[in-house]
Amino acid sequence: MQYTEIMVRYGELSTKGKNRRSFIDSLGHNVRKALHAFPALKVHANRDRLHIVLNGEDAQGVMERLRLVFGIQNFSPSIQVERDMDAVYQAAVEMVQAQYQPGMTFKVNTRRSDHHFEYDTNEINDMVGGQILDHVEGIKVQMKQPDIVIRVEVRLNGIFLSSETIQGAGGLPVGTAGKGMLMLSGGIDSPVAGYLGMKRGVDMEMVHFFSPPYTSEQALAKAKQLASTLASYSGSVQFIQVPFTEIQEEIKEKVPEGYLMTVQRRLMMRLMDAITRKRHGKAIFNGESLGQVASQTMDSMIAINDVTTLPVLRPVISMDKTEIIKVAEDIDTYDLSIMPFEDCCTIFAPPAPKTHPKLDRSRAYEERIDVEGLMQRALDGIQITEIKPGEDYLNAQADVFAELL
Ligand code: ATP
Ligand code: MG
Repeated sequence: MQYTEIMVRYGELSTKGKNRRSFIDSLGHNVRKALHAFPALKVHANRDRLHIVLNGEDAQGVMERLRLVFGIQNFSPSIQVERDMDAVYQAAVEMVQAQYQPGMTFKVNTRRSDHHFEYDTNEINDMVGGQILDHVEGIKVQMKQPDIVIRVEVRLNGIFLSSETIQGAGGLPVGTAGKGMLMLSGGIDSPVAGYLGMKRGVDMEMVHFFSPPYTSEQALAKAKQLASTLASYSGSVQFIQVPFTEIQEEIKEKVPEGYLMTVQRRLMMRLMDAITRKRHGKAIFNGESLGQVASQTMDSMIAINDVTTLPVLRPVISMDKTEIIKVAEDIDTYDLSIMPFEDCCTIFAPPAPKTHPKLDRSRAYEERIDVEGLMQRALDGIQITEIKPGEDYLNAQADVFAELL
């Protein structure tokens, strides 16, 4: 089938009243960005639908990228023919033949936006259906739940035929919710949290705390690789790496063991607050799931959230681990996440962290360290990289190791 166009149906954004235009413009922008590797195609983001005119570009390749763009309910590859019934017959028969298996049923479903066309919808249904019956041996018409539906749309600029409907990614166009900051570890949960936030329209930047030499270059590369996987949903992401070694060492020296984890998390959260404000983000996202580990109880959240007034959003808060893993597998982050590189929290984790830390004690223990100086030095050491889909950080790392050997 030589498709000429992909017809895209909007997702939830079609209910957004007067914001509709800006949602559609954002989606158009995101679709163009996702399809920049296909220079000949043209994207028309109209009020009711978005049309991608292929101009000879490969429909399969385009549809693979399109599946990752949030704000799309579904889409159909279609063929444009002249406003001439013989051309319609030929395309319709070909479309059925491409899918037909013995015993299948079909129907034709016509819409006209041009009401001056010489035939009405019933006539077109009958005429096209008749041709299909004549040319496809053994096929039968069925009105209720046929195996194949041929949609014919008569427009002023031509007649469009389509049959397949492919599920889109759903959600809202990335960027329409504003900017957010994801705390991205190398674990399973935070990439899923990032994906879910992006799905609701958040333009997500990724912040990763690392503690060399306690954490390896590979752990950092793994976090970047995860960021690259998530970048498939937005075109690119900013990856912000924050040196955390000095803070962890100082806390380990000065804070009682039971509060090590809580005070470390307070410092992480303080840094998140500072970075988010500086970069005009509106909220902090993390991968906490209630009750999963000691730092993820409501008491811990009270003790840690204490240092910021920004919203801390936790998309996976009420998901079971198995549910989170299912999403991680679907979005291709799971295999990366389970690679065994230690991250900074694992290494400095006390054997028995308090599951119910007290707020006043958390504050008091934190006062034993030089919060301001430590934060300033961490912020001064930040490095920011723009990460795109399909980049390879893990193997680049392997090459470096190979050279060292
Ligand atoms: P994950 O699987 O996302 O690592 P987890 O179950 O291992 O989560 P924790 O290690 O307690 O839980 O981390 C809770 C959340 O804190 C993470 O989901 C992530 O958002 C954030 N976080 C933890 N470590 C880091 C890090 N090194 N850099 C950035 N954020 C982190
Ligand atoms: Mg973790």
